[in-house]
Amino acid sequence: MKVIKEISAIQNICLYFKRLGKTIGFVPTMGFLHEGHISLILKARDENDIVVTSIFVNPIQFLPNEDFEKYPRDFLRDYHLCKSAGVDYIFYPEPEDIFPNDYKTFIEVKNLSDVLEGKYRPGHFRGVTTVVAKFMNIIMPDKLYLGQKDAQQAVILKKMSKDLNYPTEIRIGKTIREDSGLALSSRNTYLSDEEKIEASVLYKALELGAKLISKSHSISSEEVIDKMKSFIKEKSPNCELQYIAITDNENLSEIADPGNFKGEILISLAAFFRMTRLIDNIVVTKT
Ligand code: AMP
Repeated sequence: MKVIKEISAIQNICLYFKRLGKTIGFVPTMGFLHEGHISLILKARDENDIVVTSIFVNPIQFLPNEDFEKYPRDFLRDYHLCKSAGVDYIFYPEPEDIFPNDYKTFIEVKNLSDVLEGKYRPGHFRGVTTVVAKFMNIIMPDKLYLGQKDAQQAVILKKMSKDLNYPTEIRIGKTIREDSGLALSSRNTYLSDEEKIEASVLYKALELGAKLISKSHSISSEEVIDKMKSFIKEKSPNCELQYIAITDNENLSEIADPGNFKGEILISLAAFFRMTRLIDNIVVTKT
């Protein structure tokens, strides 16, 4: 496994492999890797000749009041995890090389970026789509690997890839969780052990919502959300819920009667445990 910091170097390496007819799988990450990232790397390893992972805490997807500075970083640990998982190249650029002072070009997926997470983190997805578009131009992957954990990000990047005609297949890996149900996240390191146990209430509430929707032929989103809110309030007094939303998993538009809906329904939420903001989701398919 090699670590490449220079943009032109990784681009030339990827071009070389493409000319040889090799397929490239790309897993973008912000590092501080956990089993969720590793599951994507293993999937990429399975499906491609060459696996490239990027480790880049992307400054432009953080809002000014967010945790860019204190976001956990441990390159040596990530290096060993990537090596064991079979990564061929870690792309580990410097922020000033990706976004130099005179940087001017941004990618924005309209509408989809303003709802759900976008409402509370304005500009976040513009940062995500811009950096991923750049990385896709640098790596030129045949397949791009994303986690369902960031459901809206997956929907937006699929749309960007389609709209901009990237010849890349987007592969979504399922959310990896602790036994308690808590979704793995690099930000879980901010939580105490007690908070981690308490935070598992989020997935339990999502399961409750999914069950209510699955078993009914007609139920309002309001009723489902109210029941989930009461459940969280009862089980976890320290949880400060920011939102719960029930939307069409294809276009993220709100669904009034999910009981009577045909297709994939996304139930998503965000909540704070003290200063730590967590997101999670579940998808219910109604036929
Ligand atoms: P991040 O490092 O948080 O930017 O995440 C990098 C990639 O890993 C994204 O595509 C995430 O959706 C994915 N990911 C993060 N957490 C998980 C998880 N618990 N299970 C599966 N994929 C995940």
